[in-house]
Amino acid sequence: MENKNENLQGENKASLNFIEQIIENDLKNGKNESRVHTRFPPEPNGYLHIGHAKSICLNFGIAEKYNGLCNLRFDDTNPTKEEVEYVDSIIEDVKWLGFDWGDRLYYASDYFDQMYELAVKMIKKGKAFVCDLSAEETSALRGTPSIPAKPSPYRMRSIEENLDLFARMKAGEFPDGSKTLRAKISLDSPNMQMRDPAMYRIRHAHHHRTGNKWCIYPMYDWAHGLEDSIEKITHSLCTLEFENHRPLYNWYLDESEVYRPQQIEFARLNLSYTVMSKRKLLELVQQKLVSGWDDPRMPTISGMRRRGFTPQALRAFSDRIGIAKRNNVIDVSLLEHSVREDLNQRAKRVMAVLNPLKVTIKNYPEGQSEELEAVNNPEDESAGTRMIPFSREIYIERDDFMEDAPKKFFRLAPGREVRLRYAYFITCEDIIKDQAGNITELICTYDPLSKGGKSPDGRKVKGTLHWVDAHQNTAAQIRIYDRLFTVSDPDADKEKDFKEHLNPDSLSIIEEAFVEPSVIGAEALSYYQFERLGYFNVDKDSSTEKMVFNKTVGLKDSWTKAGN
Ligand code: ATP
Ligand code: MG
Repeated sequence: MENKNENLQGENKASLNFIEQIIENDLKNGKNESRVHTRFPPEPNGYLHIGHAKSICLNFGIAEKYNGLCNLRFDDTNPTKEEVEYVDSIIEDVKWLGFDWGDRLYYASDYFDQMYELAVKMIKKGKAFVCDLSAEETSALRGTPSIPAKPSPYRMRSIEENLDLFARMKAGEFPDGSKTLRAKISLDSPNMQMRDPAMYRIRHAHHHRTGNKWCIYPMYDWAHGLEDSIEKITHSLCTLEFENHRPLYNWYLDESEVYRPQQIEFARLNLSYTVMSKRKLLELVQQKLVSGWDDPRMPTISGMRRRGFTPQALRAFSDRIGIAKRNNVIDVSLLEHSVREDLNQRAKRVMAVLNPLKVTIKNYPEGQSEELEAVNNPEDESAGTRMIPFSREIYIERDDFMEDAPKKFFRLAPGREVRLRYAYFITCEDIIKDQAGNITELICTYDPLSKGGKSPDGRKVKGTLHWVDAHQNTAAQIRIYDRLFTVSDPDADKEKDFKEHLNPDSLSIIEEAFVEPSVIGAEALSYYQFERLGYFNVDKDSSTEKMVFNKTVGLKDSWTKAGN
């Protein structure tokens, strides 16, 4: 926890991160004709998560900053796990974050022919061979960083035989797993990536774009560098796990005699109380432990969008955490802080009562109602004001009343006076209970001279309560979320499945809360602050019959509270 801030750079905007330093240096030296061209290369095997958002902000942000370009490229080299649904969701998410790839939307699968031709070239140069070993046999011969590999018995195949076999692999003559094309690099490199890695494997599988054209598919390392090269990427930014793949990235491109971008690694984003691997997120979805990829508890971009996080907040968060060279864990409360900070500027204030207690104002004329003016956003004058209805019957929050209230309780209690926000001062005169002794209603009086919540004579009230008119309102469902996991690192204990740490109380539903009528008809995603309660937004399940809101974040900021 001590070092969670070590990479935060929000405070010092002028300083460059290490990637910007490299780029500025390259620009100074006229490298790549002084172009800057990055790419965001997701594999379409799941929905994007907040870690991807960081990579998107980095790649598109660098391009924006240096007048360069950033491509969106689907790294779709694995036919069996990829789906069109994921492609569509990724496009939607990157757009929503506010980035634009122009006409540069690419698919690795569009380059399969070029990759194949270059593999043939590698065979002709004696740099690749067809190997008949199974995966198990290959790893048995592989050695360790200090023990050299034993050569594959197929390593010395002639170029002619390799060319023939590779063509027949492509033609579909061999079953899955029976052969691979391997690079002929090294038997004793201490970097295990360099020990004759596989370039192609056989997979008789349908591909979402190339159909059944191919039954051999390129491995990640072989494919990725070529994709970057073909697109004339200048700086290929990737996460730290690929650091020891860099020599292989370089080797492939140099031996193929094609343009070579520069690979630069940065630390991936890890967030407390969050799992980020797509495989694990897929498990949650498939086992219906969440309602879908866009469940508001998910760390996916679509989940966060649905929850009410804004693109501006995610971008601000990404800026704030900066770019590091070493892995670290960011406190999820910093993300929530960024969301709160953004919504404070953006969200329209309204009043809602989540746990209603009816109040009858006995000296307010029966059948009468009026409209009172309320400020939409004290942080943003241009948001203007709205009128809210008030009448003899209203709801207040049950917690805002106490029968035997201590002195320090500054809300409503028998005989005490409080302000109703934007309305009037009221005093509690009587309590009505049911037979079981539960309070069902309060009888109050109001001071007609305190209209707008202003004191008529200088007398002070300590508390200001939010409220909703009992007749003119909308009865809404409210979904309240807690963290999806109960522990800060659900992956820490390797003996335990991460799902054992799921928080059983991560979702609670209030079936009937009352919200002031100004929200009626608001579209899905509309952002609000429910006064005194937190930030809420309209869920996509909301309808004219029944509005549904998600709680986005509370008002209390545990990030600044912790002294950050
Ligand atoms: P996961 O491990 O979650 O399945 P991945 O790395 O396999 O993710 P890709 O679709 O290959 O997912 O990722 C696309 C890009 O996003 C890559 O450049 C990758 O480095 C980057 N990326 C993925 N996860 C993170 C993260 N947590 N922080 C920063 N960048 C990330
Ligand atoms: Mg990946």
